[in-house]
Amino acid sequence: MALTWSFSGGTHPRSRKSTAESPTVRLDGFRRVVLPLSQHTGAPCRCLVTPGDLVKVGQRIGEPVGFLSAPVHATVSGRVVAIRRVLGYTGILGDAVEIESDGNYEIHPSVVPPTVTDRASFVAAIAASGLVGLGGASFPTHVKFSPPADRQPDTLLINAAECEPFLTSDYRRMVEDPAAVLAGVLHVMHYMSIPRAAIGIENDKPAAIAALHAVIDGKAAADPNGPAAAIEVVPLHTRYPQGAEKMLIYAMTGREVPSGGLPHDVKVMVLNVSTVAFIADHLQTGVPLVRRRLTLAGSAVASPANLDVPIGVPVADLVEAAGGFARTPAKVLMGGPMMGVALDSLDTPVIKANNAIIAFDEKEARIPDESVCIRCARCVEGCPMHLLPTSIDAAAREGDTEGLVEFHTMDCIECGTCTYVCPARRHLVQSIRNGKALLRKAEAKKKEARA
Ligand code: SF4
Ligand code: SF4
Repeated sequence: MALTWSFSGGTHPRSRKSTAESPTVRLDGFRRVVLPLSQHTGAPCRCLVTPGDLVKVGQRIGEPVGFLSAPVHATVSGRVVAIRRVLGYTGILGDAVEIESDGNYEIHPSVVPPTVTDRASFVAAIAASGLVGLGGASFPTHVKFSPPADRQPDTLLINAAECEPFLTSDYRRMVEDPAAVLAGVLHVMHYMSIPRAAIGIENDKPAAIAALHAVIDGKAAADPNGPAAAIEVVPLHTRYPQGAEKMLIYAMTGREVPSGGLPHDVKVMVLNVSTVAFIADHLQTGVPLVRRRLTLAGSAVASPANLDVPIGVPVADLVEAAGGFARTPAKVLMGGPMMGVALDSLDTPVIKANNAIIAFDEKEARIPDESVCIRCARCVEGCPMHLLPTSIDAAAREGDTEGLVEFHTMDCIECGTCTYVCPARRHLVQSIRNGKALLRKAEAKKKEARA
């Protein structure tokens, strides 16, 4: 499978992974956490606590509503001080539980290793753990574990590309704890009856490739007919957005996910590398998803680092605990510089899907003024989804919903490549996001009219 396929388009942004050799540092001692009841794709949770309640780490405080949802757990022990509306990092207002920590990190008695004996109990355990895709997509993992009966995956792909500049938390996970990655992959293969797996890593991460090879090859040598012998480590070309799901599937299997389709449509299951490592930890300890590993970096940060923090810590408190800002931050992103979301407040809490906080000073944050399109077609050549970014941009700016449909706007994966390569500095992704919002609005109106 190694380096056989790749994908067309994409770009090579400067990697700027200065924290690659910074071991993950666990930070505790935070005074408060704020836990949004919607940290996942799907319905927000129903709140299970009220102000004044005492809670412990791992206690369920948000109950999922429906299948496409994921429970929320207390990440510190202490007292619930408020249920309040917060602006989530996606820009949507929602309820959140604020807990004042007692500093003890006392574990709730419900936290015990789950009893897992078959697929159903495995999926139930993952659903109860609150796990969502830790690569940034925030899709509830138990939903991925429930594909339609006629699309049972034959291949498990582990997304370890981590192709965005600055991000190194997945890399550190692989280097520091490859055994957890292997154990997680084996659990998924076993309980989901997937006969083979492949871990895709960009070839600029030789230490991670070596660490995974060492544990997998050791296990396979001890049991040549066992499942570890069916796991490959696949070095991938270093090219952005190699870690986007559709690009990864094509690069590793040659299969193309159809427009509007999902990986199971081509009999593949894709999980992020930190997601599978969490699965191994959870089955062993029973601790639900209460902590997040992330990279803190950028020109405004005093001490760039890889951190392991309780979910719900406000970004301001996290940065202060990690050494503060070296310069006044002009732009703070949750996520990487290509796909991250700019925060309008440093009170925004870290949520399950945050893999990075990147803070830029004024010089780096400056958004260049747009100029007119010079029709160079670099955005078209760079688009990994084979779209026409400049045409979508024009349709979005004109409010032309028919054009937006015609140019397949909803297929855009918002990778940011078109904006990155544009010499006229056109704000293409922003415009495409606006176009998608227009289409959603138009769709909602149509539904209303039909009702
Ligand atoms: S149009 Fe969308 S998918 Fe294509 S390069 Fe731009 S952001 Fe990426
Ligand atoms: S890259 Fe920029 S200038 Fe070139 S065609 Fe696309 S929008 Fe126009």
